Amino acid sequence: MSTHVDIEVDLLIVGAGPAGLYAAYCGGFRGLRVAVIDNLPEPGGQVAALYPEKLIYDVAALPAVRGRDLVENLISQADAFGPTYILGEQATTAAPIVPSSDGGPSRWLVGTDHGRRVNCGAIVVTGGIGRFTPRPLPAAAAWEGSGLTYHVRHLAEHAGRDVVIVGGGDSAVDWALALQPIAASVTLVHRRAKFRAHESSVGELRQGTCTIITDAQVTDADGDDHLQRVVIAHSSGERTTLAANSLIVALGFTADLGPLESWGIQIVDRRIVVDTAMRTCQPGIYAAGDITDYGGKVRLISVGFGESALAVNNAATYLDPQLSLAPGHSTDSAQQPAAVAASSTA
Ligand SMILES: Cc1cc2nc3c(=O)[nH]c(=O)nc-3n(C[C@H](O)[C@H](O)[C@H](O)COP(=O)(O)OP(=O)(O)OC[C@H]3O[C@@H](n4cnc5c(N)ncnc54)[C@H](O)[C@@H]3O)c2cc1C
Repeated sequence: MSTHVDIEVDLLIVGAGPAGLYAAYCGGFRGLRVAVIDNLPEPGGQVAALYPEKLIYDVAALPAVRGRDLVENLISQADAFGPTYILGEQATTAAPIVPSSDGGPSRWLVGTDHGRRVNCGAIVVTGGIGRFTPRPLPAAAAWEGSGLTYHVRHLAEHAGRDVVIVGGGDSAVDWALALQPIAASVTLVHRRAKFRAHESSVGELRQGTCTIITDAQVTDADGDDHLQRVVIAHSSGERTTLAANSLIVALGFTADLGPLESWGIQIVDRRIVVDTAMRTCQPGIYAAGDITDYGGKVRLISVGFGESALAVNNAATYLDPQLSLAPGHSTDSAQQPAAVAASSTA
C-alpha cells in the first residue's frame, strides 16, 4: 500500500459513473473545488466498464449515444472546471472532523485504500451498485489479458479473430451481435437451453452467422503466449475443441458496497436512503444515482443526472448557508470552457 499526498477540496464525489461525472460539473458550476474518486482505473462507471460500445437511446436530447461517447462528453463538460480525479483508489473510510470554532459545518476526512486522505467540506456518494467484479470462468481464468476478457472495450480489438463468448444474458448476446460482422467467427456458448437475454436479440442472433451452442460449458483453454483454443463440454458428454483467439466471459458481475456500509449512513438493501434533497442521515453527506433509494425511485442515467444536480446544490448551501439553493442558469454564466484549466489527476 502506497501513501499518497493528502488533498483538501470543498466537495468529494465518490464514484465516477455518469451521476458522479455530472455532479463534478454541477460542483464546478457552483464554484466548488471538486475531487472525484473511483476504484476503477478510468471514469464512466457501469457505462465505461460494461457497455462502452452500446447505443443508449433514453438520455434526454441524445436520440442515440454510444456509451463511450456519453462518458467522454460528461468528462469534457466537467473539465470546464478542472476537477481532480483520483482513479484506481477506493474510498474506504469517512470520519467527521470536529466543527471549527467559528461554528461552520463539520468537515469530513475520507481515507482511501491507497493511504490517501481527502479533507472535504461535503461528500456526494455516487457509488452506483458499489465496486463491481465480473463473475470468473475458472477453467480459463489464467488467460485473462492473453485472449480472455470480461468486457469488450473496443469492438475493433476482436476484428478478424475467432471469438467465443460465454453467457446467456443480454451482454453475451449483444456482444455476439456486434462482433459477428467483424470477427472471423463468433460462437456463443451457454450452459442452459434458454437465454436470459431479450427474445428479440436472441431471434436476431439466430438469423445471423453466429454459432450458438447451448447446454454446454467451456472446461479448458489452451494456447502458447496467447489463447488459441477452448474445449467445450456438452451435457451429452461429448467434448469439442474450438479455435478461439478471443474468449469473452459475460457471466454477469457481483457488486459490493463494501466500506460505504461503515460510514454511518442509512443503507437498506444495498441502497442509500435519501430525502428529497438527496441528503443522507449524516450531515454533509449526500448521494445520487443508482445507489440512492426513496419511494418511486427509477434507476436510469437520466434520473441520476437530476439527482446529482439536487445533491450538489443542496451540498453547496450546506457548505455556505448564505448561498441560494438554485445555481442560476448556465446560459447566464460567464463560463468559457476552453478558457478554464483542464482537469488534473491527483
Ligand atoms: C448492460 C447495461 C445496459 C444499460 N443500459 C441503460 C440504458 O440504456 N439507459 C439507462 O438510463 N441506463 C442503462 N443502464 C443503467 C446505467 O448504466 C446506470 O443507471 C448508471 O450507470 C448509474 O450511474 P451511477 O453513476 O449512479 O453509477 P455507476 O455507473 O454504477 O458508477 C458508480 C461508480 O462508483 C464507483 N464506486 C463505488 N463505490 C466506490 C468507493 N467506495 N470508492 C470509489 N469508487 C466507488 C464504482 O467503481 C463505479 O465506477 C444499463 C446498465 C447495464 C449494466
